[in-house]
Amino acid sequence: MLIYNTLTRQRDEFVPNHKGKVKMYTCGPTVYHFAHIGNLRSYIMEDVLEKYLRYVGYDVKRVMNITDVGHLSSDADTGEDKMLKGARREKKTVMEIAKYYTDAFFADCAKLNIKTPDVVEPATSCIDEFIKVIEALLEKGFAYEAGGNIYFDTSKLSQYYVFNDFKEEDLEVGVREGVEGDENKRNKADFVLWFTKSKFDDQELKWESPWGIGYPGWHIECSCISMKHLGEDLDIHCGGIDNAFPHHTNEIAQSEAYLGHKWCNYWFHVHHLNTNSGKMSKSSGEFLTVSLLESKGYNPLVYRLFCLQSHYRKSLVFSYENLDNATTAYNKLVARIAALLKGEQGEVDKAAFDSLKDGFKAALDNDLNTSLSVTALYDVLKADTTPATKLALIEDFDYVLGLDLVKAAKAAVEAEDAVAESASDDPFVKEIEAKIVERAEAKKAKDYARADAIRAELLEKGVVLVDTKEGTTFKIEK
Ligand code: AMP
Ligand code: ZN
Repeated sequence: MLIYNTLTRQRDEFVPNHKGKVKMYTCGPTVYHFAHIGNLRSYIMEDVLEKYLRYVGYDVKRVMNITDVGHLSSDADTGEDKMLKGARREKKTVMEIAKYYTDAFFADCAKLNIKTPDVVEPATSCIDEFIKVIEALLEKGFAYEAGGNIYFDTSKLSQYYVFNDFKEEDLEVGVREGVEGDENKRNKADFVLWFTKSKFDDQELKWESPWGIGYPGWHIECSCISMKHLGEDLDIHCGGIDNAFPHHTNEIAQSEAYLGHKWCNYWFHVHHLNTNSGKMSKSSGEFLTVSLLESKGYNPLVYRLFCLQSHYRKSLVFSYENLDNATTAYNKLVARIAALLKGEQGEVDKAAFDSLKDGFKAALDNDLNTSLSVTALYDVLKADTTPATKLALIEDFDYVLGLDLVKAAKAAVEAEDAVAESASDDPFVKEIEAKIVERAEAKKAKDYARADAIRAELLEKGVVLVDTKEGTTFKIEK
């Protein structure tokens, strides 16, 4: 499989460190608000990646953190903790909102068929691990204390900007957020590992540490939680593209300084979901959630299809018109699968199955081209093979695509059958059916006058008879 690697800036052949096994880490949500559908685009595409790796036979262990402390409103470490802001907004404690929005996040994931990672770990449960790594960084000379906080010293690295050719003067992160820079920093790119002093002294959650009572920085969480559950090496690290700098850059800096060797081989970044007015962001307060889409009558899985229809490395513009088009596409797919379920299905043709499956894999092997993998689904529907083969392939692909297509088609057929069944209990329908039998018998006996009289009699009652090759059906006119 070829996968684009932000670290090498090219599509690399995916080869995990340990044969047959994949260690995968995902930056989890900051749980101070609902996840918006932009965040969820990242999690959908990461879910497809994880499932595809499992589909082709890897034993995947995926770990995700929950950021419930330390993510400041400015990436330059000078703003207020986002969790505290959220707690104040809702007049609740930080732990109350962390629980509420963590549960809401997983409820949204379930609606979108996003699998829960094998390990989910909140940052607040790993304080000892953070302290251990920060102590080691201080000991090795990669960190320093200034103004009560512990900082990572980026000048100690031979290369800090691993993902791109940023120049420091272009990285006015603090200024971008409208807050002043931190004068304790020896170098502009240095970042906080542990806070004991900040302008925002009402930080709710604080812990004892060798440097005084305080709380961890955001970046250290992901390095430590990954190492705790996946050990000293990592195959794939995922996140939205905004995480590449500074978050992932800082994760690499501190992890490799601590370990003394390379940490993670592949960096998978999902590009943003935008609206016509720009990037969708939680902090702007203007964002769309899965519940909002549901309240407008959209099936969450239609949003998943909408995401799959475009490549994860392209930014995607959300509009209701685009979502309506995805709804039409989804409903058509379900209707075509329902038609397959209703007829004779025959046997699975192994040769056709394998060749169509190859098409699906070729799409995803090419840097997770989900849009072509959806095309492979249409190729199955168009193929000259048995319905049984098509249904088996669609079920097989759906392990990765997660669109519940066969499930939705079965539900549609069952609903149709239920309508037909309730109609057959109706005395009026029974009367019509009896008349149809009587008319067929009259025609057989060449009593056309009687047959026509029955047709006319029914028409009087608003019933139109339709003669087809398979027999006579009827329509009740309003
Ligand atoms: P957060 O909860 O803000 O920590 O973000 C959770 C994940 O969503 C991170 O991987 C972000 O990079 C990602 N993300 C944030 N905004 C967007 C967006 N508009 N489109 C796609 N992914 C996003
Ligand atoms: Zn992270």
